[in-house]
Amino acid sequence: MIRTVQGLTENNTQHYLSQKDIKKLSKLLIKNHKQINIDVLKQYEIKKEDIATGVVCPNCDNLPMKREMRHWLCLACSNKNADAHIKAIYDYALLINPQVKNEELRNFLHLNSSTSMYKILRAMDLKPNGSRKAATYTIPLPK
Ligand SMILES: [Zn+2]
Repeated sequence: MIRTVQGLTENNTQHYLSQKDIKKLSKLLIKNHKQINIDVLKQYEIKKEDIATGVVCPNCDNLPMKREMRHWLCLACSNKNADAHIKAIYDYALLINPQVKNEELRNFLHLNSSTSMYKILRAMDLKPNGSRKAATYTIPLPK
């Protein structure tokens, strides 16, 4: 017997879930959704020191980019980019820790100035929790 897709569709008209049930189920799934929170480095046995740090050039993937007045400069391809640090900051949050101090993130981005780091964090709408050197910032993890 040859069955066509159309034939299968015609013969399977019974709905197992009503529209109302599907809505209920999707609400329940969304409500119970939890962010996967795994320690990626631990899982793959990678040492924190083995991670290449710095801002990656979005044009040629070279790193680290060099911070200039208002942008990042790639020393390999001369590309200039004002927002290249954003990806690096999310990488830090996902790989190492979403709670970060100015100095820790500055070291990761190869940024010398704590004021520049502060400005970058504020521009991303991240507010310090605590004061001065001890202040931590919570980087929101992408959903
Ligand atoms: Zn480049």
